[in-house]
Amino acid sequence: MMKQIIKSYLRRLKVMALRPEIHFSSVFEHCAANKHFQCFQGNPLNHLNIHRKSIEDVARHSQSRFLSYRQLKVLFNPEKKQPVWLTYQNLFESDNEPKLTVDQCEVVLLGIGSRLIVDRPSSLTNTEETKIDHKLLNKYLLASEPTPDEYIYFALSIPTQFADNLPGTYLDLRSLLPQLSVIDAALCGHGRALLDWHASYQYCGKCGSPSKSLEGGIRRKCTKCNNTIYPRTDPVAITLVIHSDNEHVLLGRKASFPPLMYTCLAGFIEPGESIPEACSREIWEESGVIVDTKTVRHFDSQPWPFLGGQLMIGCYASAVDETITLHDSELEDCRWFSREDVAEMIQRARNVNLDKNDQGLRIPPPIAIAHQLISNWFSTTTSKT
Ligand SMILES: [Zn+2]
Repeated sequence: MMKQIIKSYLRRLKVMALRPEIHFSSVFEHCAANKHFQCFQGNPLNHLNIHRKSIEDVARHSQSRFLSYRQLKVLFNPEKKQPVWLTYQNLFESDNEPKLTVDQCEVVLLGIGSRLIVDRPSSLTNTEETKIDHKLLNKYLLASEPTPDEYIYFALSIPTQFADNLPGTYLDLRSLLPQLSVIDAALCGHGRALLDWHASYQYCGKCGSPSKSLEGGIRRKCTKCNNTIYPRTDPVAITLVIHSDNEHVLLGRKASFPPLMYTCLAGFIEPGESIPEACSREIWEESGVIVDTKTVRHFDSQPWPFLGGQLMIGCYASAVDETITLHDSELEDCRWFSREDVAEMIQRARNVNLDKNDQGLRIPPPIAIAHQLISNWFSTTTSKT
């Protein structure tokens, strides 16, 4: 049985999980260059969901490393342009006063993975593969032990009064994304989403009693009625609507967006709705445009660790009635943009040195799935003509 699990796990790593070729490249550049890769994808850690023990059992391990958050801002080293990974000793056995204890923090286990995520030699190229010791894999699959090549990765939220004793600067993850590698973005996003969920679910939704974290933070349990609470992910349908002439796409903007930015229409999937039904309803409510649910096609999805934790489900849909009427008040403007408009908007979104006074319209940056939806439509349909 265990042999089968190891064989299957190795196969999975090979197929998708490690993605060694993308570990250390910039997430901004990687998303700009790849039609089928979304920011916050590419997390290479084994989440250890099959073999979890309590946090206390593994946090003290000499190969444990911790990513620290204060009010969901992540501890970052601006010089190295990397998140700061701390040891158990750095956090809980330092000479700093007052002393920090594990009980004062929300600690979540992210998983086991290569040490190179933290100990990144400057000579390491973006495409260098990480190593797995296959002989030792058996050991940690059975006992959750890391191989010598690996660390056990945690994220924790630290009370404000202790947070300033640690080396680095706490920064908002969204503003950090242009500086992060693919792998750092995925890990910081994973930690942020889990810690945000824990902070929001301290009490049982059924009886109101306190809940406690179990199995390294993968679930919570009510201390009174035993109700189990699982991490929440809210599905959002985000759709690029294509005009029947196949030369125009529908983009809109909310008043709260950055100036000059237009993007795909999006909304939460409501209870009882399929993905195509949610796309169709949201597009009609926001723009008045009618799409045929049979034309809705899935493109890709993106874990989005903000606003409580969402899964952005990217779709294409074809319009059957292109008349724009802003039924609800979500958008301040919505228009059909031509292929030529879209080409310029993609270029502006990808130009990190764009003049601040440039008044041209743009779409979101490559780290947003909306950018990938639009640029993928543009490149695939333009190359055919
Ligand atoms: Zn309860």
